[in-house]
Amino acid sequence: MERTLRLAILALLGALCLVDPLGFFATTPAQTDVGDQALERASGSRTVAIGLVSDGGGVSTIPLEVYVARVLAGEAEPGAAEAAQQALAVAVRTYALVNAGRHRREGFDLCDTTHCQVMRTANETSRRAALATAGRVLTLEGTPVEIFYSASCGGRSESAAEVWPGGAKFPYLQSVRDEVHEDEVPWVLDLTLEEIRQALARAGFGGERLRDIDIDARTPSGRVARLRLTGLRPDAMAGDPFRMAVGPRQLRSTAFSLRRNGTSVRFTGVGYGHGVGMCVIGAGRRARRGETVEAILAQYYPGLALTTLDARAVPSESAAPVLAESVRTPVVPPKASGMVVRVPSGSTVSAAELEQLAIHAHESLSRVLGTSVGPVTVELHGSLDGFRYETGRPWWVSAAVTGTTIDLTPAPLLAQRDGMDATLRTAMAELLVSPALAGRPAWVRVGAAKYYSRPTPPDAPSRAVSCPADAELTMAISAAAQREAESRAERCFTRAFARTGDWRVVR
Ligand SMILES: [Zn+2]
Ligand SMILES: [Zn+2]
Repeated sequence: MERTLRLAILALLGALCLVDPLGFFATTPAQTDVGDQALERASGSRTVAIGLVSDGGGVSTIPLEVYVARVLAGEAEPGAAEAAQQALAVAVRTYALVNAGRHRREGFDLCDTTHCQVMRTANETSRRAALATAGRVLTLEGTPVEIFYSASCGGRSESAAEVWPGGAKFPYLQSVRDEVHEDEVPWVLDLTLEEIRQALARAGFGGERLRDIDIDARTPSGRVARLRLTGLRPDAMAGDPFRMAVGPRQLRSTAFSLRRNGTSVRFTGVGYGHGVGMCVIGAGRRARRGETVEAILAQYYPGLALTTLDARAVPSESAAPVLAESVRTPVVPPKASGMVVRVPSGSTVSAAELEQLAIHAHESLSRVLGTSVGPVTVELHGSLDGFRYETGRPWWVSAAVTGTTIDLTPAPLLAQRDGMDATLRTAMAELLVSPALAGRPAWVRVGAAKYYSRPTPPDAPSRAVSCPADAELTMAISAAAQREAESRAERCFTRAFARTGDWRVVR
């Protein structure tokens, strides 16, 4: 969850305290202390393995409810009424349960950074909220589902489909009006065109001068969906990556308007964070005016049910720290072939077939490129959502290379696109050239991968090609734009390679 959440809460807390004559923020005295032991008992055999990424490494396996209390201590609005704390406890628990397979390749369930959920030292309030809601999660048709939450929606939450391409798999995360923000003062951010250009250059955009910036399209909730960046390459960008590039703490949300005055640009907006799912500030206000935990959850997650986890579903005699067995796959040790291959259960392509293709691609490309990498992991995903979730790439990407791992979209989709063999060869070529091309523009790597994956090398273009800026390859806003940029990358590489004859020196 976003680090910005806590900052927003601190900022808003100051404002809220002024309008808190009844002292709701004071902790009610004489409440029974809840210790970790009570939380441990309430967890039954449910535990969660946390990768201590922010704390020197290692894995700590802790009871689920202890984890919920610790995350809550960091994410909750300090002093929020109990119903808001409890609603967030349910969201934190649901998130943990559904995302338990997120780091299976590294040997744990969740990490302790903003990538997953940050933990703090549990306090009395957070322990009490965890215990009061122990085992309760949000479900759709009986199954816990992926949910999100953010600091403040600013008056209208965002539909997941608008923030993350492919977010259509979250039909229950729709945009809803949140009328509790009416008295909030908009935030303002002033930047010069040059400051914006520099931020975008760090994200891989080309172009010497940003001449103008405009909002091109908005989502149905009113957030910025696309910006036009006159003078840069590419000259368009989606709203959410723009916010990340400028800095999510400076540009607090995409619910903004902008006004240009000479070379300076003023952003005026509401809310803090992506705005999808529960709004922590809004939940706090609802709790203070007396809404129940059920009512708060129904506001932000309409269509989801509040369900208690089935105690029988977890074998209590088992000491195995398995939170959600279905999403975990065992870590497969590399074989002599140097390949670790995973296919989904019921896959039409067997692990042995995929392994053969991967070995063949690796061998033939290693020979041509004079480089080798091992062991290589190839994972064929069972669903496009699974692929997108693991890689963070948009729906039109067929394969993603991260270090020595290749993620592939489902086999039927690969068959419709370039075919599994061609996709795997391109990905393998990218994996093999990447270490030697580190620090070079992205078109060198992408172009080399496409060039070497072909059965016969393409002819060098006779005329100069404009090589794509990094962002044209990594932040394309459509499948067509992506294809066009990749094609230019290949032609650029082919032309440069024809001059040097050595792929390692192309730049
Ligand atoms: Zn993580
Ligand atoms: Zn809200």
